[in-house]
Amino acid sequence: YDAKAAGRNGVTVYTGDPHEPLERLSMTSRLRKALTRGEFALHWQPVVDPADGTLHKLEALIRWEDPFRGLVMPDEFIAFAEETGFIDRIGDWVLAGVGDQVAAWRRDGLVVPRVAVNVSPRQLRRPDFGRRLLQAIGERGLAGLLTVEITESAAMADPMRTDPVLQELFAAGVEIAIDDFGAGYSSLSRLRTMPVQVLKIDRSFLRGVPEDPEPTAIVTAVIELSSALGMEAVAEGVEHEHQRAFLVQRGCPLAQGFLLGEPVPAEALRPLLAAAGTPRP
Ligand code: C2E
Ligand code: MG
Ligand code: MG
Ligand code: MG
Repeated sequence: YDAKAAGRNGVTVYTGDPHEPLERLSMTSRLRKALTRGEFALHWQPVVDPADGTLHKLEALIRWEDPFRGLVMPDEFIAFAEETGFIDRIGDWVLAGVGDQVAAWRRDGLVVPRVAVNVSPRQLRRPDFGRRLLQAIGERGLAGLLTVEITESAAMADPMRTDPVLQELFAAGVEIAIDDFGAGYSSLSRLRTMPVQVLKIDRSFLRGVPEDPEPTAIVTAVIELSSALGMEAVAEGVEHEHQRAFLVQRGCPLAQGFLLGEPVPAEALRPLLAAAGTPRP
């Protein structure tokens, strides 16, 4: 009998690490409630040509509008959802949300560019992921409009499992991008045989561009590698004019970052879509 573990009236009081399991439980139930109460939202970040700012794509980024905490960013709940498996339901919600929003924009006569969604490693490992995704986008008229962003580690791990899924998506017109490229481990020979069309350069490298020679060399190398492999490079995290100018000088086709456009709610994106859909005089 552990006296320390018993409170007054014999009620057991936890000693070691008491909050962990409780917090996990409440987090799961809060995520579940957030889903049923419609507290998730998508924000949209433009992906542009750094030379002239032309809109090429959008990336859909999830937000949680928690009535108590305000806007909660994905870094605070995606890893948790990934661990517990709740990410599957979030992933379904994101696809449905993208489909509904694209349909709404099109009803208003707006021309919608390609839309990128982030897919977590766990989603990618599901054997039925490809089939479910293709069914969801087929129902919503998104075939040929979607880019799936997967992290480097998810793409490189477990090729026997993920390659057939990626091939299936690619064959259906879904573009495949490696997100945060350079931050993890990549096998270049594997990269060459995978159906990948886009390399997104991790924003940690952009931070030192162009004054710090090492990250600058890495960014230059990835732009050249992408072009040599017939892929499209997207530089992430462009915050300063000198970074943009550097990317243009190195021939980086696409870029994304606060300087070029912050993630915004769908309503705020309307003027940009309207302008992009209007042919230039
Ligand atoms: P990511 O896919 O690499 O998305 C880019 C992140 O960089 C976004 O953070 C975006 O807001 C941020 N960002 C964009 N431009 C700049 C910039 O110039 N400077 C800086 N410092 N940051 C910039 P966010 O929205 O907080 O998302 C974080 C991560 O959460 C994403 O990284 C992605 O891995 C994950 N995520 C977001 N939405 C989803 C989703 O729907 N499903 C899944 N599975 N993961 C998601
Ligand atoms: Mg393009
Ligand atoms: Mg991404
Ligand atoms: Mg990224």
